[in-house]
Amino acid sequence: MDTQMLIGSRFEAGTETEEKILNPKTGETILDLPEASLAQIDAAVDAAEKAFDTWSTTTPAQRSTYLLQIADAIEKDAVGFATLESLNCGKPINAVLNDEIPAIVDCYRFFAGAIRTLQTPAAGEYLPGHTSMIRRDPVGIVGSIAPWNYPLMMMAWKLAPAIAGGNTVVFKPSEQTPLTALKMARLMADILPEGVVNVVLGRGESTGNALINHPKINMLSITGDIATGKKVLAAAAKTVKRTHLELGGKAPVIVFDDADIDAVVAGIRAFGYYNAGQDCTAACRMYVADKIYDNVVADLASAVSTLKFNLADDTQNEIGPLISRRQRDRVESFVTRAAEHKHMEIVTGGKVSGDKGFFYEPTVIAGALQDDEIVRREVFGPVVSVTRFSDSSDAVRWANDSDYGLASSVWTKDISRAMQTAAKLRYGCTWINTHFMLCNEMPHGGLKQSGYGKDMSVYALEDYTAVRHVMIAH
Ligand code: NAD
Repeated sequence: MDTQMLIGSRFEAGTETEEKILNPKTGETILDLPEASLAQIDAAVDAAEKAFDTWSTTTPAQRSTYLLQIADAIEKDAVGFATLESLNCGKPINAVLNDEIPAIVDCYRFFAGAIRTLQTPAAGEYLPGHTSMIRRDPVGIVGSIAPWNYPLMMMAWKLAPAIAGGNTVVFKPSEQTPLTALKMARLMADILPEGVVNVVLGRGESTGNALINHPKINMLSITGDIATGKKVLAAAAKTVKRTHLELGGKAPVIVFDDADIDAVVAGIRAFGYYNAGQDCTAACRMYVADKIYDNVVADLASAVSTLKFNLADDTQNEIGPLISRRQRDRVESFVTRAAEHKHMEIVTGGKVSGDKGFFYEPTVIAGALQDDEIVRREVFGPVVSVTRFSDSSDAVRWANDSDYGLASSVWTKDISRAMQTAAKLRYGCTWINTHFMLCNEMPHGGLKQSGYGKDMSVYALEDYTAVRHVMIAH
C-alpha cells in the first residue's frame, strides 16, 4: 500500500499529526497516516510553480498523450484501484469496478481529446487596422481539495481538466479517504513530468487551510460542504484567487400523477441509495402527486427493504456503510428527529444496522412536509423523504425552495409537462424519467449555494483556463 505524499519527484511521509484511516465496514484502523507540515506544503507548491514554466508551454497534443497514458494505467490496474477504494470507503467492490473505474478512465480520455479542440470566436479585425485573437491559457497553480464520497473520481474530475488546461496542481484528498490518491501519486510520478501533480495529506483545518491561504496558489477547486466552500471564498478573497466550488445538494424528485410508478420506484431504489446516499445528487427529496402517492410510498418501501448490504459476500452488496461513525450518527439523528413528528412515518429502515462498521438501514420517510428538517437539510445518507402534493405549482415551488441547486428530476409521460417543469427548476441538472446519470461530455455543477464550478465537459476546461485577448496594431 502506498503511504507517502508526492512532492515534486520525491515521495515523503508527512511529519505532523497522524490520522486514523478506517475500514468503514468494520470500524477497524487500516493504518495511521501523518499529515503534511507547512514546509512540505510549501515544497509541493514550489514544485508546482517550477513545473508550470514548462508544462504550461507543452502542446495540447503532448498533454493529451500524458492523459491517455494515465487512463491506460488506471484501466490496467482497475482491480487494484477498485479494491483499495472499496477498502477505504466501504463501497461494494462491483460498484467501484463496474461503475466508477470506467467513468474515471473515460474522464482522463475525454479531457485528452477535448483539450485539442477548444473553441473561441474567430480572430479578425474587430477594430480597423487591428487584429484580435482569443487565447485560452492556463490559470496557474491549482490547489485541489476533494471529499470522501468518491475519492478517485473526484480526483479525476479535478486533475484531468486542470492538467489538460496546462495548469499544475497541489492535490489534497479527504483525510478520511487518501489511499487511492496515494496510489495515483505513484502512477502519475511514473508518467508525468516532475511537479505537474503533487499530493499532500491532512485535515481541512490544517493542510486544507494552508492551501487555500497559500499566496502562490492561483486557483482553488473544492468539492465539499457549503460551510467549507464559504471558508474557501473568504480565503480566496485575500489574494483574489479563482475558485471552483461544488458544494453538495438536496435533489428534489417531482413525480407527476401520470408517471410510470414501476420506473419511479426502481429509479429511486437505485439513485436515492447509491453509495449509501452519500452523493450530492442523491434522489433524496420526493414530491409525489396525490393520486399515486399511496402506491408510490408502499411500492418504494417494499423495494427499498430489499436493498442488499452488509453481506459477507461483498459481490452481492448493492450499497455499503456510511464513511464514519460520525456520519452514521448524523444520519441516525436526522431520522430520530423526523420520527418525533406525528405527521411523518418511517415506512422502512430507520435503524443502525449490525454491531460493527458504520451501516445504516436504507430508509424511507413518508408524510414529510416542506418545512421539515428532513426535507430541507442534506442528510448524505440512505434516507429518502416523500412529500405529497395536489397542485403541480406547489411541487415546483417546493422543489426550488432550497439553498441547494445541484440536481433534480421530473417523472411524467407528458413531454410538454416535463420540459415546462425542467425549465422552471433552478438546478444545475434536471433529469427526466431518470436521475443520477452522468457522462463526461456533459457538465456537472450547481446553482445557488451548491456552488458554480462545472466538472466534466468542455465547461470544466473553460473553468480551468483563462480567456485572454491578444491584439496587434498593423
Ligand atoms: P467537507 O467540506 O468537510 O470536506 C471536503 C474537503 O474539504 C476535505 O478534503 C476536507 O479536508 C477539506 N476541508 C474541510 N475544511 C476545510 C478548510 N477549512 N479549509 C480547506 N479545506 C477544508 O466535506 P466532506 O464531508 O468531505 O464531503 C461531503 C460534502 O461534499 C457534502 O456536503 C457533499 O454534498 C459535498 N459533495 C459535493 C459534490 C458536488 O459535486 N457538488 C460532490 C461530492 C460531495
